[in-house]
Amino acid sequence: MDGALPPPDTGAGCHGGRETMDAAARAAGKSATMDRLTKDYPRGPHDQPQSMCPAFGSLRVGLRMRRVATILSGSACCVYGLTFTSHFYGAKRSVGYVPFNSETLVTGKLFEDIREAVQLTAKPEDYDAVVVINLCVPTASGVPLDLLPKQIDGVRIIGIDVPGFGVPTHAEAKDVLAGAMLRYARTEAESGPVARPTKYVEGERSIALVGELFPADPVGIGMLLAPMGLTVAPQTPAREWRDLYAALDCVTVAAVHPFYTASLREFTAAGRPIVGSGPVGVEGTAAWLDAIGRSAGVSSDLIDAAKARALPAIAAAMAANPIKARITVSGYEGSELLVARLLIEAGAEVPYVGTACPRTEWSNADREWLEARGTHVQYRASLEQDCAAMMDAKPDLALGTTPLVQKAKELGIPALYFTNMVSARPLFGMMGAGSMAAIVAAQTKGRERFSRMVSFFSGVGTPDGAGYGFAGKPVDPPGFRERQKKLRAAQAKALEAVGT
Ligand code: SF4
Repeated sequence: MDGALPPPDTGAGCHGGRETMDAAARAAGKSATMDRLTKDYPRGPHDQPQSMCPAFGSLRVGLRMRRVATILSGSACCVYGLTFTSHFYGAKRSVGYVPFNSETLVTGKLFEDIREAVQLTAKPEDYDAVVVINLCVPTASGVPLDLLPKQIDGVRIIGIDVPGFGVPTHAEAKDVLAGAMLRYARTEAESGPVARPTKYVEGERSIALVGELFPADPVGIGMLLAPMGLTVAPQTPAREWRDLYAALDCVTVAAVHPFYTASLREFTAAGRPIVGSGPVGVEGTAAWLDAIGRSAGVSSDLIDAAKARALPAIAAAMAANPIKARITVSGYEGSELLVARLLIEAGAEVPYVGTACPRTEWSNADREWLEARGTHVQYRASLEQDCAAMMDAKPDLALGTTPLVQKAKELGIPALYFTNMVSARPLFGMMGAGSMAAIVAAQTKGRERFSRMVSFFSGVGTPDGAGYGFAGKPVDPPGFRERQKKLRAAQAKALEAVGT
């Protein structure tokens, strides 16, 4: 590394200020990286993670792939949190770590250490690829992962920058690694023969699904596609390296999760057309089969045959599982709009959908469909917006992130955690049609019980009354609040006098 620049405050990171870190990264030679991240993952209205560290998305994609090693380069506290979370989610794999201190960061020794770690790890008998992820501080310091060897003894080396000040959500961080891998695989395929994908069938015409889906969903989608003579290609993010070649070999890409900007760019570069939305409910499935069929050059007879086979069964399943409830939907998975469509088709009223992901052209059809039915769609939704919408809509059920669910419960509103409860069931085709009704009914039934609990526990365990060991309601020390108020006023006055 030739950057003898002063490192940014290594205690900064998530809370250190995006502008400061961004400026440091640019000064350290990462302007192209930061420009690309800003373009791929536009910000606003909120621009900082309100969930877990974004890099978890990339880490998870690497850890879920066979014969892929993942090495983190970042502050120890970040790496601790990321490895903890990955093992909490059942990674069962080691996470590599190259530690640093101010000296190794400034002198460039950190890059040498990373290179050494990569050399030691890249054993072809163990791995197809080694992924190195620069977290906030090494990115801001310009640690040049692009100078790592591209491959060692046939093991591909992929270095990516995934700073929290450049990648807004962990969902988009999945795309950073998936896109980098697709790019590498595309270049390999363009320059000569590559390994045969495991389940490759000569002449098969496949659709590549983009997004981490519930395991039964690709199977269900395969059944929808079969009458058109189409199959499902391995998903993106991939589960093993040669799956990348199979995905790139598809006839059409289905951007089921619409925020995979870098990955979709690679499919486009490979000449593959892209179709947005997904096969949810009757209308969603009909529109999706039409769009996929047309894109893949399937005759209208076969498209009609696929619809005739799927739609009556989906309609019957939805009729048998009606949803009668007012529901707000928010999350950071990227499937929020599709979930809202399914709920509305099943009979629910959905006044608000918030997604932490950005607006892209691949979710336009879903947004228009929802808006035509009076749903407010909020891209890059902040927790505050989600909570305000929930309080305004007073739903029978709120689907959302952990803090939103917590807030809902405090208010006596039944709520479900989107990631664990909604993303953990099928969404598409026949299987998806009836999947939400039972859980919505079970939760909304509890509303009255929630109200009784709220009134019974009123004032207990709320912010400054929270804690263990109180026999009664905790009492503030006399004069405490007044003293704090005066202190805050004095601090504000002093700040005003100095200016910022
Ligand atoms: S790497 Fe993640 S946890 Fe660490 S400072 Fe950046 S955003 Fe925060």
